[in-house]
Amino acid sequence: MHEWALAEAIIKLIEYKALESGINRVNYVKVVLGELQQVDEEILLYAFNELLNILKNEKNIEVVKYQLVKEKAEFKCNRCNSIWSLNTNTVSADELEMIHFIPEIIHSFISCPHCGSHDFEIIRGRGLSVIVYPQ
Ligand SMILES: [Zn+2]
Repeated sequence: MHEWALAEAIIKLIEYKALESGINRVNYVKVVLGELQQVDEEILLYAFNELLNILKNEKNIEVVKYQLVKEKAEFKCNRCNSIWSLNTNTVSADELEMIHFIPEIIHSFISCPHCGSHDFEIIRGRGLSVIVYPQ
């Protein structure tokens, strides 16, 4: 259950940004969640809401609006420079599950659709980013 840890980290960032800007009302927070992240969105949202309440009650910092956005995974071939996205038609559900669990294993299941190389970079969809708009 790392959803709570993630939610806590997001809340800490919001608090930090609010203090840095000297405000106690944050207008908008956007959480971008990579397709390859093994995160249960429902649990994350639940945890986030709970912690938002605590942030408001204990630190008097309020978030007006927030949004959780999914980011599609994208790969770039190191051999031919092709860029492609995760095709769930060619990757089985079992493989996806393994990839979610151990992202590094992705190189075993996915190859460049143009030259067949397993040497590629994950350029999007891996991490989690948080953008805080104080005003
Ligand atoms: Zn290639």
